[in-house]
Amino acid sequence: MPCPSFLIEHDRGLVLFDTGVSPRGLANPEEYFPHLAERFQLERRPDLGVDYQIRGLGLRLEDVKYVVPSHLHFDHAGGLYLFPGSTFIVGEGEIEHAYMNSSGPYFLLDDISPTRSFRWIEIGGDLDLFGDGSVSILFSPGHTPGSLALFVRLPDRNFILSGDSCHYPAEVQLGAARSPGADAPRATRSLQRLILLRDTWDAYFWIGHDMGQWQEWPHAPASI
Ligand SMILES: [Zn+2]
Repeated sequence: MPCPSFLIEHDRGLVLFDTGVSPRGLANPEEYFPHLAERFQLERRPDLGVDYQIRGLGLRLEDVKYVVPSHLHFDHAGGLYLFPGSTFIVGEGEIEHAYMNSSGPYFLLDDISPTRSFRWIEIGGDLDLFGDGSVSILFSPGHTPGSLALFVRLPDRNFILSGDSCHYPAEVQLGAARSPGADAPRATRSLQRLILLRDTWDAYFWIGHDMGQWQEWPHAPASI
């Protein structure tokens, strides 16, 4: 399954939603992800790292003003360390939960501890980031305590980026989150709210880990 990062251009700065698997890990999987690389059969290509991808757009990593990790699992938080000058927005309870569970397998201390001195802001509800309705962070707990999704309004269409509020289209069809080890009722409430917003805000619901949707849309260096 893909582990995408989404870079959103706004007049007031670049927003990065998720940072994928660690570029350090992609360069050296056996050392960085003992057992994990094998278990998840990670594609070991450093050119898939978020650093490589952003530079490939002709941008600098320092140009990213806001980083919004949907949550802090290793397949979303691996590139956090690359953005020491950015402002990080994270769901309430996520950081504490990540450190408490950082012995693995899904949270990695090496992903999150380098960011201890970064500027982190926790939100316990939705946040209209620029005050113009174009980028709204949607508090969607359940998969993890501080899970987030993102609403993005482009000039001609709207998206809701799922984060890991769900992984499979069937969950959206059924309105039920299947999220092993998580708070399932809470995850389902969050997913049902996102489905409602999909309809009332006229948005396309993009499931980050779904291969079908990954193939449906262009990737960097192309844009939507
Ligand atoms: Zn994930």
